[in-house]
Amino acid sequence: MVYSDSHCHLDRYQAESLTEMLQQARANKVDFIVSQGMNLESSADTVRLAQSQPGVYAAVGIHPWNAITPTEELRGQLRQLAGQDKVVAIGEIGLDYARSPETKDTQKELLKYELSLALETGLPVNIHCREAHQDMMDILRQEARPGLKGIIHGFTGGLSMLKDWLDLGFYISIGGRGFVTSETPALLDAIRQIPQDRLLTETDAAGQAGGPADVTAVVQKLASIREATEEEIANTATANLKRIHGI
Ligand SMILES: [Zn+2]
Repeated sequence: MVYSDSHCHLDRYQAESLTEMLQQARANKVDFIVSQGMNLESSADTVRLAQSQPGVYAAVGIHPWNAITPTEELRGQLRQLAGQDKVVAIGEIGLDYARSPETKDTQKELLKYELSLALETGLPVNIHCREAHQDMMDILRQEARPGLKGIIHGFTGGLSMLKDWLDLGFYISIGGRGFVTSETPALLDAIRQIPQDRLLTETDAAGQAGGPADVTAVVQKLASIREATEEEIANTATANLKRIHGI
């Protein structure tokens, strides 16, 4: 059995706790981890970290909480980071109208640029979307050329949102804070309808004690919701994650 964490933030850990946490992840058979950037500095840290750790890969990007106008300088810096060894995605990017409604326009402009970077580099995107589903769909349907590959991270929607993401060809990543104790009927229904070859698992760990090893609890819960074995869920999610990242 092989576990994977499609979305976490390893740069948020101190060096000593990171070493211990990655040992714990390996002991739990979490063999494939994609750590996400939040801004330029965090993206550069994430790339360095991935290059020094087997089984850890990096996504680079600017999170909507840190939205800034994509100037020529920023574009150049992101392009440079995206070309580094072990970078497998553009992330964490997206729209968040719940926490940062005042920067909607900048978020949209930045997202459009980051989608174009994904198309240019051939890398998939790792998307954060909070209370912005309709704008997100409008942008993805306009900007996404054939060939755009992506993951919606920490999916918590119901069936109609699920269908929108699946129609775009996206993978659906489940997990993150709160999922293991969540009993929202619409989410549980949607989770049963995710096709086997589009399901991913994640922790969104960003400094908490457990780190990527906590993905085992996400797999356990998914197995009970989908009436599958933990082994099936873990192995399938890992194979899917490797497929979308071309590893
Ligand atoms: Zn995240």
